[in-house]
Amino acid sequence: MVPCRCEAIVLATMDYRESDRIVTLFTREQGKVRGVARGAKKSMKRFGGALEPFAHLSVEVVVREGLSSIRSADIVTVYPRIREDLAKIGHAGYAVELAGRFLPDHAAIPRLYRLLVAYLEQLDAHPYTPSDRRFFEANFLNILGYRIALDQCAACGVELPPSAERRIGGDGAVRCAACGRLGAPLAPETAALLGRALGIGRFGAVVFSPSSLREAGVLLDGAISAHLSRPLNALSFLRQIQAD
Ligand SMILES: [Zn+2]
Repeated sequence: MVPCRCEAIVLATMDYRESDRIVTLFTREQGKVRGVARGAKKSMKRFGGALEPFAHLSVEVVVREGLSSIRSADIVTVYPRIREDLAKIGHAGYAVELAGRFLPDHAAIPRLYRLLVAYLEQLDAHPYTPSDRRFFEANFLNILGYRIALDQCAACGVELPPSAERRIGGDGAVRCAACGRLGAPLAPETAALLGRALGIGRFGAVVFSPSSLREAGVLLDGAISAHLSRPLNALSFLRQIQAD
């Protein structure tokens, strides 16, 4: 089979047999691909230090139904400034784990690929801010078809004008005040900021206030976990570094 040359972000790696590694890649051209990198633990020549989580690579890969074969990998960037900062490492690790858990195999999703690369570039070039994490998550869910409806109650369907009282359901969906009596409130300001985050395709353009960050966090964490059967490993690390 002819190998394809792809641009990729490393989502995860694990050691395999004596000298190989299994690498999960999010490729721009082929979507999520899991492949064996033969000799990766020993041969610095073919893979160098390329096969690290959230490294941006140009790879040569023979894509197969089950396990693909990664022939070579050249580094585009390893995002060196992310790797110097524990909070940035935590959030980049969270982003690639999220992608690994949500993405189907072998389905190219170029918009999502661009979003992930843009987030890593943002983390690499700017100080970490929680607004960027929430911006990433809102757009991530949207591109995958899980857009959070901000202007309509998820339970009764009533329209919610900009100033309406909103509540957050346990499933990370927005409800009207009547349907979501027990839920945490979602202020009009937070709904507006989330709406802007979905309308502007640029990191740094939407800055959440501390209270809207808290609300957006409850909403987005709930929406993400509603789609997952078990929690993300990176979350416990993020909680740890946030507590410090
Ligand atoms: Zn309702």
